[in-house]
Amino acid sequence: MPYVFDFDHAHRRPPMEMKDLLGGKGANLAEMTSVLRLPVPPGFTISTDACRAYMDQGWPSALGAEVARARRRLEGAMGKVIGDPVDPLLVSVRSGAKFSMPGMMDTVLNLGLNDRSVMGLAAQTNDERFAYDSYRRFVSMYGRIVLDLPGEDFDSLFDEAKEKAGTTSDAQVPTELLITLVDQYKELVERHTGRPFPQEPDDQLRGAIEAVFRSWNGARARAYRDREHIAHDLGTAVNVQAMVFGNRDDRSGTGVGFTRDPATGAKGAYGDFLVNAQGEDVVAGIRNTEPLSALDERFPHVYAELMAIFARLERHYRDMCDTEFTIEQGKLWMLQTRVGKRTGRAALRMAAEMTREREIRLTKAEAVQRITEDHLESVLHPQFAGGGGHAVLTTGLGASPGAAVGRAYFTADDAAAAAARGEAVVLVRSETSPEDVHGMLAAQGILTARGGLVSHAAVVARGWGKPAVVGAEALRLGDRSVSVGDVTVAEGDWLSIDGTQGTVMLGQVPLTAAEPSEEFLTILEWADDIRRSHLKVRANADTGPDAANARRLGAEGIGLCRTEHMFLAEDRLPIVRRMILADTPEDEKAALEELRVAQRADFVEILEAMDGLPVTIRLLDPPLHEFLPSTHELAIKEATVGLDAEERRLYQAARSWQEANPMLGTRGVRLGVIKPGLYGMQVAALMEAATDRVMAGGHPIIEIMIPLTVSGPELELARSWVEEAVAGELDAPDRPNARAVEVSIGTMIETPRAALRAGDLAEFAEFFSFGTNDLTQMTFGFSRDDVEGRMMSAYLEKGLLARNPFEVVDADGVGELVRMGVERGRAVRPDLKIGVCGEHGGDPASIATFYEAGLDYVSCSPFRVPVARLAAAQAVLEGAPVAVRSTAKKAGKRPVAKKAPAKKAPAKKAIKTVKQAVKKTVKKAPARQVPAKKKVPAKKKAAAKKAPAKGVAKTTVKKAARSRAVAKRGRRR
Ligand code: ADP
Ligand code: MG
Ligand code: MG
Repeated sequence: MPYVFDFDHAHRRPPMEMKDLLGGKGANLAEMTSVLRLPVPPGFTISTDACRAYMDQGWPSALGAEVARARRRLEGAMGKVIGDPVDPLLVSVRSGAKFSMPGMMDTVLNLGLNDRSVMGLAAQTNDERFAYDSYRRFVSMYGRIVLDLPGEDFDSLFDEAKEKAGTTSDAQVPTELLITLVDQYKELVERHTGRPFPQEPDDQLRGAIEAVFRSWNGARARAYRDREHIAHDLGTAVNVQAMVFGNRDDRSGTGVGFTRDPATGAKGAYGDFLVNAQGEDVVAGIRNTEPLSALDERFPHVYAELMAIFARLERHYRDMCDTEFTIEQGKLWMLQTRVGKRTGRAALRMAAEMTREREIRLTKAEAVQRITEDHLESVLHPQFAGGGGHAVLTTGLGASPGAAVGRAYFTADDAAAAAARGEAVVLVRSETSPEDVHGMLAAQGILTARGGLVSHAAVVARGWGKPAVVGAEALRLGDRSVSVGDVTVAEGDWLSIDGTQGTVMLGQVPLTAAEPSEEFLTILEWADDIRRSHLKVRANADTGPDAANARRLGAEGIGLCRTEHMFLAEDRLPIVRRMILADTPEDEKAALEELRVAQRADFVEILEAMDGLPVTIRLLDPPLHEFLPSTHELAIKEATVGLDAEERRLYQAARSWQEANPMLGTRGVRLGVIKPGLYGMQVAALMEAATDRVMAGGHPIIEIMIPLTVSGPELELARSWVEEAVAGELDAPDRPNARAVEVSIGTMIETPRAALRAGDLAEFAEFFSFGTNDLTQMTFGFSRDDVEGRMMSAYLEKGLLARNPFEVVDADGVGELVRMGVERGRAVRPDLKIGVCGEHGGDPASIATFYEAGLDYVSCSPFRVPVARLAAAQAVLEGAPVAVRSTAKKAGKRPVAKKAPAKKAPAKKAIKTVKQAVKKTVKKAPARQVPAKKKVPAKKKAAAKKAPAKGVAKTTVKKAARSRAVAKRGRRR
């Protein structure tokens, strides 16, 4: 395959789908040229293949000749030659990777100028000033980007020239000074590199192309990719394009435009432009830009043409587009387009509205696929409470919505350092540049004095969903302070900024939870329609209020209620300690009795909040010493002031329960084995609470979960305690309603052995819940608390792990155990209900892995529930089409026995199961009572759900809509 493709190359597929090869910029330049036939300066793209080859073993041997041929074709098309002393062609050399990385990589403009061709350009354009202005821009860009010179050296020379000219405006530096400046720039280059500035166009071109390749691995670009979880081995494409000149004269200009408002999603074109300017001038926020509407007044024809192009782009991409354009002497040129980045609020609004627009006709599924986790999170961001008498200090442009409160810091380094100390930070800058990215990342919010809505600060902040106010022009930045009129804000002072209103307030303005918009609710409803029958979403909640909140956010039950949290409450801890310290069975029983009464009330609250929905209660899980005081503290106290009798007893108990490795010690079901009365007490409390609920007219659905089991006999024994306690309740003569309680008994799968022997466990479990935190810990042998702090970052940096496996479930290893557990469990008990309750349950990439494994539900913390609902829908949508193709290859290998939702085991049966099991001997495996005729439903969709990464990348399904998050996930595997 060739390395170089002209923009008008006849690709077999729409170029916009070839971002892998052409990079985003190149793919869309080709799309605009060859498909949309928009006015795009001609050029060619050097593919990402070439970049990867370059990174592997240096400049590929075939590349030189290919570039030379493409260059000659371009020169032919333009009727000009690069470097020609009479009428030179100038080109830009532009980076462009698959995923847009705004400002992270480099572009060189005006390439081809040298001491001779600059005179040709001056003669041809009859504009010496323009020619030398272009040359000085080229030398400084080339010096900075290709030759690695410090940019400030060029800037200070330019500032001197402006001072000499007595002006602050770039455009007013006279020709003679520009000519001198070029000489000074070239001397600077020679001084730094020991060689004269390269005059040969071939050398210039080769140098620039290599510099773009190298910029892929620059520190900035790497940091950005780490933050965005973009793979480091994709490489960038390079675009070589004929230059057009927005800095030609006052009938020229350059601008950036969005087809809709990227902050609010409102319809209507949106953007900024500058007259007589080139390239980055608009984005840099150095000069004050004009809004697009002003373009209508200055250049009505160009404006009309641009609006028509915007409409076509929206129809074609079926989405909001972001464009760069240049006007050269009244003629419009399109230099770039892409599907634009947007805020969460805008994303939701546009996705919902585009389903109703005739030209776009987005389907609901596509709308759901366009929303990312970040979008949802940003609209759930807190807002300012309003009122409160906090006077507005000043206003700027609301560039990225949301409220931020933090201490003011004035450099990226200071901001990052303060954030590392745990401070909330608002980064205040005159304007930002890619060098500030680490400080922006660390800040709660960003405030700039200069720049428009497409300035670097605005674009980056919106991309990250960080509140930002830009162009607050009244701000006067001093040395580590900023003032507005006579008010001065020093480093470390509190500031509050509202990125929706564009306001800046002194002090800490109180925040309240966001009120989700109508579109938010609509899109999540659509997501629910897509996923509900495939993958349910529950929440992990331990208290009534948490459960109620989870339900409000759309949870369809509780996947994990940790009973230990009830034990840790201040009034319970002494009772728990009494139970642990009990010398006699009577004492132990008395303490358990007290705990039972206390737990009962907690359970009532939770069951009430989740009435009619399943609630999984996990029996006590953590090691007992967690309920005892710290031995370390008591030792100190003993050595200093001494201990009283009670403390001495506690100290002794704490020491005797101390374990070398408590996470692998006496916890979970093992605790139950040692303190058999414990689980019985918990179940009794639960059953009483449930019957209370029945008597109150409620409908409790209980799933009793036994943690950390590793074998059939162990679970069988634990189950017998539960069954006994359940039976005791059901048979209680004063509780006739007990029978209306739906109960099932299951276990957590948290050890590799449990996953491997899932068949044994399924004999005694009506449900499984994968505890993927422990499963990850034990599969990797990573002690989470130690490993995450010490070595995780090194492992991620060195690429030894693609993602932190405690954040994104390891699809290959831990995922394999999950798939195995599902398969082996359902082979024994086809209607086994299976979920996951680790923190991974709220992570989109992990949710896809779980869906593919055939799980019935995921469970996550309440505030992640909206994200999980969305991600589950996306997993369902992503899974289906790929499946059809991969069945042949994969189905045999991995029979995904996903249960058909209709075949849910009637919950009533569960209770009978329990009763019969108790009545017969405990030995009887309840599994056998599941009707044998229930075969594994070979659900077509489920069997076909495997989505191999390469398949995802190759499928020709409309991918424009795919969220970046999902695309990244596809790559990861
Ligand atoms: P980025 O990806 O950082 O936006 P670009 O490759 O788009 O970098 O280039 C930076 C700036 O240079 C843009 O504003 C673009 O409009 C301008 N530019 C790039 N190529 C040309 C060209 N051929 N003619 C005129 N301006 C150009
Ligand atoms: Mg650009
Ligand atoms: Mg666990």
